Amino acid sequence: MKNYKNFSEDYIDLSIDYIQNQYDDLNNLLFDGKLEKIPIKLEINKNSAARIISTKEGNQPEKLNYLGISKYFKMKKSIFRDILAHEMIHVYMIQNHIKDYGGYHGIIFKKMMDEINKKGFNVTIVHTSHHSEINDLRVSKTKVGVAIMHNKDLDEYSITVIKKDVFLNTLENNEVKLRYYIKNKKQNYDIYYLLSDYYKLKIYPCIRKSDSNFYILEKDLFNEIIDNSEIIKKISV
Ligand SMILES: [Zn+2]
Repeated sequence: MKNYKNFSEDYIDLSIDYIQNQYDDLNNLLFDGKLEKIPIKLEINKNSAARIISTKEGNQPEKLNYLGISKYFKMKKSIFRDILAHEMIHVYMIQNHIKDYGGYHGIIFKKMMDEINKKGFNVTIVHTSHHSEINDLRVSKTKVGVAIMHNKDLDEYSITVIKKDVFLNTLENNEVKLRYYIKNKKQNYDIYYLLSDYYKLKIYPCIRKSDSNFYILEKDLFNEIIDNSEIIKKISV
């Protein structure tokens, strides 16, 4: 295998052909050539260097629309390949209907990212101005109730998403249950109760009963959710 670090570090001149070649190359190198071809669009996007546009309607599987690459950023080849590999993990997961836990860059994403990075890449989950995803379905039609537990001793976050009316009707009950659960753990927690229509919450199943089915939540997604939600209550236990 070609050593990634020996690639030329010159800035690349983005064209559809160039991107397609890189896509095909990474497809063979990292995904056994199994990724489907998706339309590529060059765009002027100041917010992200690359993004996968997909749509999800009702119970239909998520559909890949296109890979958007921004001409706005001047990139070196290695950076571009890291960014493209990141997007291609999303392509792989959408194409294979894989649901991740812990956000768009959850457990499965990170596992694949680590495997790719062993081959000399430097794929990250951090969204900088050089990279972010924008989903077509930005805003949910209705708000949902959200409970987030932050274990301050371990700095771990977990989340559950509940139908709004159930959430509001069972808030007190839920708090009593969580306090009891935490008391047994003998660790320090913050609990956040939120109402939100933030689109990334769609990745979690919205439950209709008030049982506590918590999923791992990444810290960067926690911050995004807090910034995009209405905080109903915060308690420290
Ligand atoms: Zn991503």
